[in-house]
Amino acid sequence: MADPVEDRASSIRVTHLRAINAGRKGYVKLETSVGIVGWGEINNMNTPVACQLAESMGEMIVGENPTRVEHLWQRMYRSHRNLRGGGLMTHVISGIDMALWDIAGKLHGVPVYRLLGGPCRDKIWMYPSAKALKISPGAAHYHTGSPADVEALVERIRQARAKVGPDGAVMFDAHSMLPPPLVRQFAGHLKSDDLLFLEEAWVPGNIEVMRRVREEVPVPLATGERDRGIWEVREILEAQVIDILQPDCGHGGGITQMKKVAALAEAHHVPIAPHCTMSYLGLTASLHVAASVPFFLIHEGYTSQMAEGVATKTWTMDEEGFVNLPEGPGLGVEMDESLAQQVGEQPDQRFQWPDNRLVDGSVADY
Ligand SMILES: [Mg+2]
Repeated sequence: MADPVEDRASSIRVTHLRAINAGRKGYVKLETSVGIVGWGEINNMNTPVACQLAESMGEMIVGENPTRVEHLWQRMYRSHRNLRGGGLMTHVISGIDMALWDIAGKLHGVPVYRLLGGPCRDKIWMYPSAKALKISPGAAHYHTGSPADVEALVERIRQARAKVGPDGAVMFDAHSMLPPPLVRQFAGHLKSDDLLFLEEAWVPGNIEVMRRVREEVPVPLATGERDRGIWEVREILEAQVIDILQPDCGHGGGITQMKKVAALAEAHHVPIAPHCTMSYLGLTASLHVAASVPFFLIHEGYTSQMAEGVATKTWTMDEEGFVNLPEGPGLGVEMDESLAQQVGEQPDQRFQWPDNRLVDGSVADY
């Protein structure tokens, strides 16, 4: 009888969780008993607060087997019944989840997408790129618009179309800045093929408002960056008010949850177009999911979100806007911990609470 293969996955343990404040980004570092280190990213939070929460949640992770990713996700998400599903919790869980997957991939010597079922595609379409641009309304808008307001929105589409050409993709992110009556006015000027999709043409939270927008807008609709997990996207998918779902790997519970959300969307014939404003670490984590998902459209990613040298990039974009699959093992991203820490000490990198206003000084959605 052959010798049994050593099962390193059964004996590995998390020995330490450290959270690093890198200014607008936070990084989770998990150390293990076998020397493997896993990294994850926390985004869109007051980073010092996020780091404190991550280290507190480390009490549930240290001493545990990091390859039990699903179990540890459940442990964190369902740990506190009153905080379950809240934004601060899920953003932090997302970062820890990415680090757990990073460890699992490194332990097995494969890219994370291999553990997610293997690649469903050879390359990943991404924006912004030469042939795919997203535009926004620019500023908060009042309840209804003047002809000049509506014309300004339509002009933004014309200009983007001129850049990408008739065979390119233009996406319009309404960014919850257009109230429903203005969306209706704007929709009257749109042709069905003007946009790859219109994003967040509502403030999330009322499915009936979404249904009305759906009836009035002739272009494909997208949403999902603020929806956390299968429980929040379920109602939107079942109501059939969108054509494209935009999960964010850093908002909704990390790789574990994004893979499930994509499956739920697949059952409704809705592809995912992942939202992403993370640095190379979180963006690459999201790309691993995108690689492994059968029903996928396009991925968002901005070099402006990257502090130079903190996280390495293992993929490049071709002229058509496709990037190669990220290379492993794990997430395949090397982190410079001391540089990340230095970035966190720079005053201009500090988190600031957004403050979007209408011209009269009242608070506006964005
Ligand atoms: Mg958006």
